[in-house]
Amino acid sequence: MSEACEILHRWANTLPRLNASYAAGEVPKNGIYLVFESGELAHGGNRIVRVGTHTGKDNLPKRLHEHLFKPNKDRSIFRKHIGRCLLADDPFLAQWNFDLTSRANKVKFADRVDMLRQHDVEARVSQYITDNLEFVVFPVKEKHERLELEKSLLATIKCCADCKPSPNWLGLKHQAEIIREGLWNIQGFGGQPLNVSTVQALAFHTEARES
Ligand SMILES: [Zn+2]
Repeated sequence: MSEACEILHRWANTLPRLNASYAAGEVPKNGIYLVFESGELAHGGNRIVRVGTHTGKDNLPKRLHEHLFKPNKDRSIFRKHIGRCLLADDPFLAQWNFDLTSRANKVKFADRVDMLRQHDVEARVSQYITDNLEFVVFPVKEKHERLELEKSLLATIKCCADCKPSPNWLGLKHQAEIIREGLWNIQGFGGQPLNVSTVQALAFHTEARES
C-alpha cells in the first residue's frame, strides 16, 4: 500500500460529495475532479476511479456537464469508456467507437450509425452515471498546475497496491487493459507520484483556500 495514496484517499473522502443533481455554483471554475463509484472501495473508504481536469479557462463546470449529462460521447472520453463497457458483448460497440465530431465524419458514417441505438446508449450511460457515480472537486487555478497534478494523482493511485477494482467493477469489461487495472483513464500516467508531504500540502493548501 502507498502511504501517499492512503492520505490522498482519506482527504478526498472528506470533501463534499457531488452527484448528478449538483448545482453549477458548487463547482469551482478551475480545478480537478475525482470520481467515486458504487462498490469500489480502497483505504477504508471510496476508491478514486477517475481523475480529471480541463484545459480551457473557467471551464470545469462545463466539462463536468459534458461528462455527466450531455448525451454526446464524442465530447467526453469518459462517457465513451462507460458506453464501451455497457456494450461489451454488443456488436453496436463498433458504431459507438466512431468519432462523429467532425462534419466529414458525420457524413462519412451517416449510413453506418443507428442513431436510435446511439441515443439509447447515451441514455444508459447517463443513467449509469446518475445511479453509480459521485465526485469531489477542488480548485487549482493555473492550467499547467492542473495538468501536472492530474498526472501525479494518476501515478500515485496507479502504483498503489490497495487501489484495485472490485470483481464486479464495470471497467473490467473494457477492451483496454489499462482501464481494467482500475481507473477510467487511459492517458496521463507519466507523472511523478506524490509523496506523503506533497499530498499533505495539497490537502492543507486546499482547505486553507476554502476557509
Ligand atoms: Zn491507493
